[in-house]
Amino acid sequence: MSVRKDANKSDLCVGVVGAGTMGRGIAQVAATGGCRVLLYDAKDGATQSAQEFIAGMLNRAVARGRMKAADAEAATARIEIADTIPDLAPCDVVIEAIIEDIEIKRTVFGEIEAAIAPDAVLATNTSSLSVTRIASACQHPERVAGFHFFNPAPLMPLVEVISGIKTENQIADFLIDLGTRMGRQPVRVADAPGFLVNQVGRGYTIEAAHLVSEGAGSFVDIDRIMRDLGGFRMGPFELLDLTALDVTHPATIEIYEQYYHEARYRPSELMGVRLQAGLLGRKVGQGFYRYEDGKQVMPDEELAPAFEGGTFWLGAADPDVREALANIITRANGSLDDGEHPGSQSIILVTPLGQDATSIAAERGLDATRTLAIDALFGLDKRRVLMKTPVTTPDATRRVQAVMGADGTPVTVLHDSPGFAAQRIVAMIVNIGASVAQKRIATPDDIDKAVKLGLNYPHGPLGFGDALGPAKILRVLENMFRLYGDPRYRPSPWLRRRAQLGVSLLTPES
Ligand code: NAD
Repeated sequence: MSVRKDANKSDLCVGVVGAGTMGRGIAQVAATGGCRVLLYDAKDGATQSAQEFIAGMLNRAVARGRMKAADAEAATARIEIADTIPDLAPCDVVIEAIIEDIEIKRTVFGEIEAAIAPDAVLATNTSSLSVTRIASACQHPERVAGFHFFNPAPLMPLVEVISGIKTENQIADFLIDLGTRMGRQPVRVADAPGFLVNQVGRGYTIEAAHLVSEGAGSFVDIDRIMRDLGGFRMGPFELLDLTALDVTHPATIEIYEQYYHEARYRPSELMGVRLQAGLLGRKVGQGFYRYEDGKQVMPDEELAPAFEGGTFWLGAADPDVREALANIITRANGSLDDGEHPGSQSIILVTPLGQDATSIAAERGLDATRTLAIDALFGLDKRRVLMKTPVTTPDATRRVQAVMGADGTPVTVLHDSPGFAAQRIVAMIVNIGASVAQKRIATPDDIDKAVKLGLNYPHGPLGFGDALGPAKILRVLENMFRLYGDPRYRPSPWLRRRAQLGVSLLTPES
């Protein structure tokens, strides 16, 4: 099959089926990209309301000086309403953005294929359904691909171009060109559960939810840690409240089912029960946080107690970390125990990677009642995250909290957890990114580019691993895998090989 027209042809006609949140955004960027747009929706009045909405958005862009009035007018005029699916006959390409239901999508794809020219292209904006399965409803699955925009489409630059098993290369090439014409930054992705970005994104929110389920800390603790240590703009629970559990949790289940229960994508029971309780997030005023007048109510953070003295023995192997901790303690007028082994009254501070405080105390024969761990992987400047064993005394905890917070840096105390919070959440993101690279779902560079554009993470998953050190991430995962015995934490071969070779995680296969 050959594509009838090239994506840059001046009178290219783009059909959009579904005029909801995504369809109207896609229609807008197609029209501003100079395409004729035919918009169809099954619901009465939906296309008219989308047309008005788009005109309003374009007028706003003009008022803000982002667009010329004549360009906005021309784009608005390029959007026409199709009353029926057969009215889409002139389209060179049809992009479907209807309800996320595989059977309904398959039916609609059959109807669209019957209406359009034999060499026109079909694309789906599905977030989580298999492109290959949708395509299999068509006579010519080779002309069907995923064209996955992000919300809000006019503001989010990324579009994933997803090839199903039978999709011809030239169809993906056409959509790459079309995405570029629409002002987006397209990335090539092979069909896989969650494609690229939504697969990597599971690492952040689900691991955070598992941590809270395990009682390691509260969701507010985890959000603060991920903002301050991980450099994320939003904590995982703030993000879940924004995207809403009735969207996130079913998509997670879909990805998990498509992966035949791969442990890395195991859904969280915490999300399941909160969804059943209707705690959906910001849109209903209550999720993990409460919202008043649309604003998140953030609980106040407790200050660290005043420091009343103490002697600390440092079990950190890394000399830089030892020095940084020693400086914090001496600046607070705390004492250091320089002995080879901790003195009988000294409080013991260890800096594990992927281990919990209990296992490190047991392995090294340390008194667990006086042992606390501190997460040193992300630096000690923005927040200090401590972890106690089940038997650490309240006195030892208070003294470490006080000495670590004496200079005003916020301190969070977690219950014991292999990998604290940030180590394990970031290690999961890196590991899933590595698994995406291993499966050749996208190139290493595209994986990082797409995740930064689609999720606004401070780094792509592979670059995050490089920034912290692939060998350290490998150690976090190996220790977690050993302590939990859960395949969820087994390191991807892509990550292990590059860590063993001492090369960047972005290194492609030669
Ligand atoms: P939405 O509910 O806002 O809009 C869906 C529209 O499709 C509605 O106007 C509805 O009337 C129409 N529709 C439903 N069944 C139809 C049918 N059989 N024929 C024609 N029109 C029909 O949904 P949305 O958020 O725009 O999502 C649409 C698609 O985009 C889904 O596949 C979703 O997974 C995907 N997606 C959503 C987002 C997001 O953040 N909302 C992001 C990326 C992709």
